Amino acid sequence: PVVTRFAPSPTGYLHIGGARTALFNYLYARARGGKYLVRIEDTDKKRSTPEAIAAIHDGLDWLGLLGDEDPVFQSQRSERHAEVAQQLLDKGAAYKCYLTQEELQALREKAQAEKRPFRINSEWRDCAPGPEQDGQPFVVRLKTPNEGETVIEDEVQGRIAVKNEEIDDFILLRSDGTPTYMLAVVVDDHDMGVTHIMRGDDHLNNAFRQLPLIRAMGWEEPTYAHVPLIHGPDGAKLSKRHGAMGVDAYRDELGLLPEAVFNYLLRLGWGHGDDEIISREQAIEWFDLSGIGKSPSRFDTKKLLNLNAHYIREADDGRLADLVLPRLAAMGFEGADRDLLIRAMPEIKARARDLDELAEGATFLFKSRPLEMTEKAAGMLDADARANLAHAHAALSDAPRWDIETVENIIRTVAESHDLKLGKLAQPLRAALTGSNTSPGIFDVLVLLGRDEALARIADQAS
Ligand code: GLU
Repeated sequence: PVVTRFAPSPTGYLHIGGARTALFNYLYARARGGKYLVRIEDTDKKRSTPEAIAAIHDGLDWLGLLGDEDPVFQSQRSERHAEVAQQLLDKGAAYKCYLTQEELQALREKAQAEKRPFRINSEWRDCAPGPEQDGQPFVVRLKTPNEGETVIEDEVQGRIAVKNEEIDDFILLRSDGTPTYMLAVVVDDHDMGVTHIMRGDDHLNNAFRQLPLIRAMGWEEPTYAHVPLIHGPDGAKLSKRHGAMGVDAYRDELGLLPEAVFNYLLRLGWGHGDDEIISREQAIEWFDLSGIGKSPSRFDTKKLLNLNAHYIREADDGRLADLVLPRLAAMGFEGADRDLLIRAMPEIKARARDLDELAEGATFLFKSRPLEMTEKAAGMLDADARANLAHAHAALSDAPRWDIETVENIIRTVAESHDLKLGKLAQPLRAALTGSNTSPGIFDVLVLLGRDEALARIADQAS
């Protein structure tokens, strides 16, 4: 059975590249009826924070990408890591290295002087410690093969070979007995039964160290898929301005819906023909490793917003109202009427690409009189416009009912009887009713505001 994992280091927020890695691992496991696990790689005590762990949890939760089981915390497994190091020592696949800092430095300088790359070549590899080494500090190193090459058939990168002489005898246990990252990852992946490792291609180099370690233990080798990193729109490293933010900022600052981010991340580096809008169910059905692109994907904010606009239009109006209410409150419209907001939502959401635009589009419902006018709205209210507003006001005051059909008939009649194009009346009405030059259709606005409020707002601007 397929087992995948997402293994973030909790040193900051859940960034967009990490979220995509989580998504791919989630989808692959789902597509194959397997298991998707989360492991928190918190061995770097100084840099790992509880806030970062919480932020990763929240981000995954928001995107619907929490693991199928409670997360594994790497820091709680150091005894097991040390145990494996001992097994490697016992079978002669690892050795205790007593090189001191000074000796290491000397070796480094020698390599420099001879203009060759420095690679650990410890005399302790084939030399058993004597009584002089009793009580001396040592590290445990893996005996990596020196000849031949190590080959990885990566599902994304293809066949990659590295000469074994280039892979040094890296450290498994530090002199204080703590496991290194390299050891911990391999042991945890094995113990968690991980069969497929999908991660950023910045970890490709690590794979060439992890594989000899896996082989030394005689463990099953995982399938690797190293995914190209996400770049900025200019092809350079992703910058903050272009999306290198935490997933929480996508939710809070950009006002995006999780299903839009899900869809966007999926398309960022993976493709299924020309399909752009892909639901979670479809993604689970379609996801495969062969659809992952080999070149870095470029972040495209416009595409992200277009997807978000699509998902806003699809979203339930009550849910959107609940997302918009706190944003309205932050804009000074506290205690906005939720029912009114829901009634207006079908009209408002047709025009919004993010939750701030959605909130902005709803403000006309809750503004207090006399309305503040945007510059463009004020520009529409010249003397002619104000006179026309007075005609509209008079006619609307006699409306027998206040529904779309009735107000539409009245406004059309006023326009005809004064020989006005409908726009000549609708534009000043929009300005008077919303304080803005953009809004839902004017008849919808009249009805949503209700008779009293609508008439009062028109009267405020009529002459
Ligand atoms: N903890 C590593 C990271 O956050 C990932 C390790 C792995 O996927 O093997 O970059």
